[in-house]
Amino acid sequence: MTDYFEIHGRDGAARIGELRLSESLTTPALADDVISDAGSLWFKDRDLPEGDESKLTVLPHRSFPSGTDEEVMESFAVDYPDVDYPSAAVVAPETADDYGADAYVLSGARGVVGHGAGFKDAIIDTREAIPADSALVLSGVATPENVATLVYAGVDLVDSDLAVVKGTQGKYLTTEGQHYLDDLHELPCSCPACQRPVDEFTREHCVEHNVNALRAELGIVRERIRSGRLRDYIEGQARHEQWLTAAFREFDQQWSYVEERTPVIRNAELAAATEDSLRRVEIQRFADRVTTRYRNRFDRPLVLMPCSAKKPYSESQSHGQYHDAIQFRAHKVSMTSPIGVVPQELELTYPAQHYDSVVTGRWSGDEKEFVAEVLQRYLERNEYPRIIAHVPEEGYRDVCERVKEALDVEFEYTVEDHPTTTESLGNLASTLTGESKYGKRDRQHNTVRAMADYQFGDGAGDALFSELNIQSRYPKLRVHDDDGKQLAAMVPQYGTLSFTLAGARRWVESDAPVKQVEIDAFAPHGSVLAPGVVDADDDIRPGDEVVIEGPKAFAIGRAEMSGPEMAESTRGIATEVRHVEEK
Ligand SMILES: [Zn+2]
Repeated sequence: MTDYFEIHGRDGAARIGELRLSESLTTPALADDVISDAGSLWFKDRDLPEGDESKLTVLPHRSFPSGTDEEVMESFAVDYPDVDYPSAAVVAPETADDYGADAYVLSGARGVVGHGAGFKDAIIDTREAIPADSALVLSGVATPENVATLVYAGVDLVDSDLAVVKGTQGKYLTTEGQHYLDDLHELPCSCPACQRPVDEFTREHCVEHNVNALRAELGIVRERIRSGRLRDYIEGQARHEQWLTAAFREFDQQWSYVEERTPVIRNAELAAATEDSLRRVEIQRFADRVTTRYRNRFDRPLVLMPCSAKKPYSESQSHGQYHDAIQFRAHKVSMTSPIGVVPQELELTYPAQHYDSVVTGRWSGDEKEFVAEVLQRYLERNEYPRIIAHVPEEGYRDVCERVKEALDVEFEYTVEDHPTTTESLGNLASTLTGESKYGKRDRQHNTVRAMADYQFGDGAGDALFSELNIQSRYPKLRVHDDDGKQLAAMVPQYGTLSFTLAGARRWVESDAPVKQVEIDAFAPHGSVLAPGVVDADDDIRPGDEVVIEGPKAFAIGRAEMSGPEMAESTRGIATEVRHVEEK
């Protein structure tokens, strides 16, 4: 039960939280001023500290260096008492558990920081054993260079111990590493400590600067979390140190830990600037859903097209030209790095209209391999009478050739030189001569069903919307049943569907997989707080559409945290509520 820590925002495993002391502290942050350590039991027995509301009291503890034998740790385990003030327990990854504390200090942190795989294992083992809504504290390890990655991994509080020690040793810390004072020709910082000539800069000034630099970096990290863009930052910042790059790649390999904590929709732009972007959850999740959930419903040839820098694609000049040549006679699918393939119905769906990549026209080996794999899986699932590849030579055609060999399918190429030359567009138009056009109704119905497949699961589009009526124009589609009752609305900014109460009822009664939050006997208005949640499905992710039901109410809304976190947490908003019906 956590009384003194609450999470207000999530960006993957990183969180914006609030340590609710007599003066509240927004996390991730430096804990120097708020931590009070009751001391180690190795040296002597200690009385239970009195504690108070202005400090996070670290209860008397025994910490172990990383690598200590598990049996030894168990035989020296500490019984943490229940206290009524803000408290922290010291745990090792092997012994971490719910001890009723508000925060947990990872012992042996110095032994794992600096090693990608060891760090990942220690953080994940600890984070998954302590309650989701408690703070994770790493002491004696933070620097301006590594703190963004520590937070990315799920750390909430750090201290300035190491930055201070390094300052006294004459090591000047920045977000890109450390410099020996004697080697510095100038002070590359404008904090108060650095407002003096370099030859008057002492080790005391260096301590002050190091702490300032750490504090400033935490400010940048907090803003990045708030805007949902910490990952973009890490991909660049962690490059300065090999183990940091190794660390976030290790987390990319740990799909379930990061995926469970990553929102399914976001307003923020996703900057795909490095090859590591291919492995981030949002990209992998889109590729996975398009190739395992989505199904093409157009009975027409496929036209593969290159993506455009402008999003959504259909608003770009090039896609306008392709559209004029195609004229509703084919199903349009864009090929893109790093997303893979984007069917026309999903061009607004996160992150298809939210990513921004470096466009050089040249794809790396990894990019080609990724796009080829996605296209292959896509074509294994979706059959077309013809496949027309209106793509440039560079990159795109290599991908098509790889897939052709793997699947034994034929691609008809229509591009001469460049996709938008008069000749290429003429080829595209004439190759479709004789193909009939699909109507607006098919286009709209297929778009709604495609979004439902993507959002709710394989087959959901047909299970939910075997009959439907569409009113209003794309992209603000409103879905009604045959009696004119509204079931759902399309949300253009995310390219997803949100249900009405009637839609939610249909969802529960359908064969489509439902995500449910079970609540206590009350009727929620506006939101459901975590203590009101009795249980929640494990596969709920932040941003998911969820049915909320209890003895007194049936409601539909959007998840603010993952299902496991809802079930575990004692503070914070679990779901927003859009519509509610009292029972
Ligand atoms: Zn400075």
